[in-house]
Amino acid sequence: MFEADVFVIGGGPAGLAAAIAARRRGLSVIVGDGNTPPIDKACGEGLMPDSRRSAERIGVHIPRSLGFEYRGVRFHGEGRNVQADFPNGCGIGVRRTALHDLLIDTAMEAGVELRWGMPVSRMDRVKARWTVGADGTASRVRNEAGLGQTTSQSRRFARRKHFARAPWTDSMEIYWGNGCQIYATPVGGEEVCIALISREPGLRIDEAIERNFPELGDRLAGAPVSSAERGGVTVTRALRHVARGNVALIGDASGSVDAITGEGICLSFKQAAILADAMARGDLSIYDRAHPQLARKPHLMAKIMLMLDRSRVIRRMSLGAMSMQPWTFRTLLAVHVA
Ligand SMILES: Cc1cc2nc3c(=O)[nH]c(=O)nc-3n(C[C@H](O)[C@H](O)[C@H](O)COP(=O)(O)OP(=O)(O)OC[C@H]3O[C@@H](n4cnc5c(N)ncnc54)[C@H](O)[C@@H]3O)c2cc1C
Repeated sequence: MFEADVFVIGGGPAGLAAAIAARRRGLSVIVGDGNTPPIDKACGEGLMPDSRRSAERIGVHIPRSLGFEYRGVRFHGEGRNVQADFPNGCGIGVRRTALHDLLIDTAMEAGVELRWGMPVSRMDRVKARWTVGADGTASRVRNEAGLGQTTSQSRRFARRKHFARAPWTDSMEIYWGNGCQIYATPVGGEEVCIALISREPGLRIDEAIERNFPELGDRLAGAPVSSAERGGVTVTRALRHVARGNVALIGDASGSVDAITGEGICLSFKQAAILADAMARGDLSIYDRAHPQLARKPHLMAKIMLMLDRSRVIRRMSLGAMSMQPWTFRTLLAVHVA
């Protein structure tokens, strides 16, 4: 039994962001997580410029030295290659474990009480004014609180591993293939994160590169692998409600966008600021109403990008048009991150 204003179930990026933001509004906060740091996860590890700004707003400063700054996005596919810079600063590639450490340090400095190795199996053991479910995509809290009703849902499969080599690019790169994409994110002066997303649960990174992306294969040839390949799923899910009674959901527990958008963590930071405000004002309906608006644009961008995934004709036409009229890609990217 724990007592605090806020009890956060799950200490991933969303749970820690919620805890930090709530603490800054003067609420006492405990975070309980079933795992023990360092907590790693399959992730593309790219934070767009708006992610960094949203982190700053809740008091999380992501220093340049934590990863590798990149200035835009490059698409490769169908024999084309298009690049655009962000209109609003740099993104940053950061190892998942490094980001987690930074969030833990910031939470501790803010006075959050952290309990690791503590899976929460029943919400009735939590005595807090507010309970926040930040327990990820397969959230138990969501089901226990009766918030599982979705308006849409789909999923794809993911893999991720790292290669120890200097980045060859100062952009985050997305390679478009048949039924799969790989994104390459520089995460340090000598390390690149490779993340695969596909509809085939068994597809491995090496096989996908060999089948679809010889150019990427050449870049990685001979580079030592610097992390174990990790699998995961990326779910697109929108919930009817994200708050009920004294329970609110945040991060992937509260619905998620396809990983291709690179917006998951950014959304968590934005949600955390609004949730903390709602809890401080004693009214979770503020958060319940604002939540779908935050996710609207990422969902729309994901739909557009998934059209490129599903149809080779659309992919060929779109990449062709973007390479001939680079302003179209610049505009899309600006809409995505601005
Ligand atoms: C392949 C892939 C690539 C991605 N790439 C990017 C990217 O480049 N940029 C980006 O911004 N986003 C990206 N995302 C999305 C991003 O990873 C997620 O949005 C983010 O991890 C969500 O954080 P979270 O805290 O909600 O969930 P999680 O990171 O899943 O954390 C949930 C936490 O809850 C804990 N937990 C679960 N159940 C319990 C329980 N019962 N009791 C206590 N603790 C519990 C877990 O141990 C875990 O620590 C990607 C996702 C995937 C799958």
